[in-house]
Amino acid sequence: MTQTPSSRQAVLIEPRHFELREMTPPRPGPGEVLIRVKCALSCGTDLKFYRRGHPLFSFPTPFGHEFSGVVVETGAGVENFKPGDELMAAPTAPCGKCFFCARGQENLCVQVIDTMVMGAYADLLLLPAHVVARNAFRKPPGLPFDEAALLEPLACVVHAQAVALPRKVETCMVLGAGAFGLMHAILLKAAGVARVVVAGRGDSRLRWAADMGADLVIDARHEDVASKATALNGGYGPDLVIEATGQVSGWESALRCVRRGGRVVFFGGCAAGTSVQLDTRRMHYDSLTLLAPFHFRPADVIRARQLLAERNLGVGRIINEHRRLSELPQVFDMLERGDVLKCAIIP
Ligand SMILES: [Zn+2]
Ligand SMILES: [Zn+2]
Repeated sequence: MTQTPSSRQAVLIEPRHFELREMTPPRPGPGEVLIRVKCALSCGTDLKFYRRGHPLFSFPTPFGHEFSGVVVETGAGVENFKPGDELMAAPTAPCGKCFFCARGQENLCVQVIDTMVMGAYADLLLLPAHVVARNAFRKPPGLPFDEAALLEPLACVVHAQAVALPRKVETCMVLGAGAFGLMHAILLKAAGVARVVVAGRGDSRLRWAADMGADLVIDARHEDVASKATALNGGYGPDLVIEATGQVSGWESALRCVRRGGRVVFFGGCAAGTSVQLDTRRMHYDSLTLLAPFHFRPADVIRARQLLAERNLGVGRIINEHRRLSELPQVFDMLERGDVLKCAIIP
């Protein structure tokens, strides 16, 4: 290399404690690509990680997994990218060979989570060969870097709705008005469903839900969500309920809200070791369909990229704060207080 670019990386030392460290810039091996990060986005997963660590990653660890950037250097055998290319990518990719991949369930691939790219809160990021080969793309020229970094969360939402199959006649309810809940609401509106109802907490979140196009917003702190829900849809209740709080109470609420013959999508993963009780009478005689989609498949990433490139969704509105990498501690303070949906971190 002719010059050594600055290479800071945020490293989580222990819960709630990270340092911005100067790193030796990595050199890409065969199939790998080194990018200069242009934008990394905050995610609820990062906040959980920040608070309590992650069962699959030990401290100290780099973190941040939603990103876009510009290619700095490519490893041997990389043909789809060259230095200077603007790139967007998902942080994971399936192996294509395991039991689950052979059945089209690449979201459950045995390698998909333990080979995930972490370390996007940094100047430079090395993308492994399997991600470069399968889930990395040129960024469309008109797409801003911050919106391009929405590829991974949008792919999760696209996957869940491909499982849920919302229909135009339906009243759809989203529980949770965080970034994921509101991305669901935006996608449901774009799908042209009859009515989108969002239940959530916090004045600013409820205001943002209305701004994103929710037809009705329910304040979960002051209103009884289940009785509000069962009054919807001519007194039958919502056809589809998408749970996006990741709390046991949210899962239980979703089961109470959905109409007879309706579908529940448990989108938000809860803490390990938790469980919910099922009313077996209601489950069977009300013929409920319970779905719990996790992660995404390559087809969902391609669809998410297409939606971002078209720029019709307005999903970029989810990013309502921009900060520098050096301001990462303040970003996590804001995330803890719920003052921001998604923050763009610009090195
Ligand atoms: Zn994420
Ligand atoms: Zn696999």
